[in-house]
Amino acid sequence: MKRLWGATASYTAGGTLLRTQWESGLAPVPAYLIDLSGIAELHGIHDEADGNWRIGPMTTLTSCRSHLGLQTAHPLLTEAVRNIAAPSVRNLATLGGNIVSAVGDALPALLACNSVLQWRTEQGITDQALTEWLEAEQLQSAWKERLLVGIQLPRQTSISQTKRILAYHKVGRREAFTPSVVTVAINGQLGDDGIWRDIRIAAGGGQTRPRRLEHTEALLMENPSNSPSLAVVYQSLLAEFKPKGDSFASADYRRRTAANLIVSELWKAAKRLTEER
Ligand SMILES: Cc1cc2nc3c(=O)[nH]c(=O)nc-3n(C[C@H](O)[C@H](O)[C@H](O)COP(=O)(O)OP(=O)(O)OC[C@H]3O[C@@H](n4cnc5c(N)ncnc54)[C@H](O)[C@@H]3O)c2cc1C
Repeated sequence: MKRLWGATASYTAGGTLLRTQWESGLAPVPAYLIDLSGIAELHGIHDEADGNWRIGPMTTLTSCRSHLGLQTAHPLLTEAVRNIAAPSVRNLATLGGNIVSAVGDALPALLACNSVLQWRTEQGITDQALTEWLEAEQLQSAWKERLLVGIQLPRQTSISQTKRILAYHKVGRREAFTPSVVTVAINGQLGDDGIWRDIRIAAGGGQTRPRRLEHTEALLMENPSNSPSLAVVYQSLLAEFKPKGDSFASADYRRRTAANLIVSELWKAAKRLTEER
């Protein structure tokens, strides 16, 4: 269908974002809507034999949030979903739609979980790291033709003598039911010696396409996590995160907010470690 109608057709999942775009005049109503709800393979949350999780893109945000197994295995994702919109929207809105929007608030959490996207293309099913898809220059033209058929969250492996640190924050213009100004997610393993053995940090918010902050991750894994190095980490975050500003919040405000949130989580992790010693 999509091949036949090309750019005049749009895949429709929950329709919550598409409708907002049409109503605000951001995008024209396409001539054809391809409803994905009838494709059974695109629904559901699966705990696979190898320990990976596979989520169908048509899974609603409500289903993601309330799935007990997913809450235990990937609490960052369920926490991110909890912060999106309100229950009435989450009952319709899907994880796939949130991802393909390229600015959804679930994305930083999915990046921090090292997620992989599965696309149906003319050649068959193709796997692509979420981080790679978000960084692709041609994102805007390429993604519209492809169908997202799965989201894979790899099994979390634990390194011995480390503690896993997870954090997700969304800052909006009010406490709840608000578009994001900044979103950050951290998924790391802090060694008993205070050194990060493995850490993934992602940030986004507003119309900023979320991304991993890999230079800062590398910096953290080289240096003991103590107060002086956090000052350096803070500067690294300010240099690396490049959000878009708008009339509600400047790029500089967003950059500083993200850096504050991330550094405060790193500081709390280091403090907990010191207290436990
Ligand atoms: C009142 C309100 C509040 C909101 N608050 C938030 C918020 O706090 N945070 C947030 O992130 N979002 C928010 N949104 C935006 C939206 O609800 C979410 O991003 C939602 O997850 C989108 O999912 P959907 O199923 O409705 O997507 P749709 O609107 O159906 O589709 C979105 C885009 O994805 C494409 N698409 C969908 N599925 C596929 C697929 N399988 N393969 C290829 N392309 C696909 C569609 O063609 C379209 O371009 C809000 C929306 C509303 C109306």
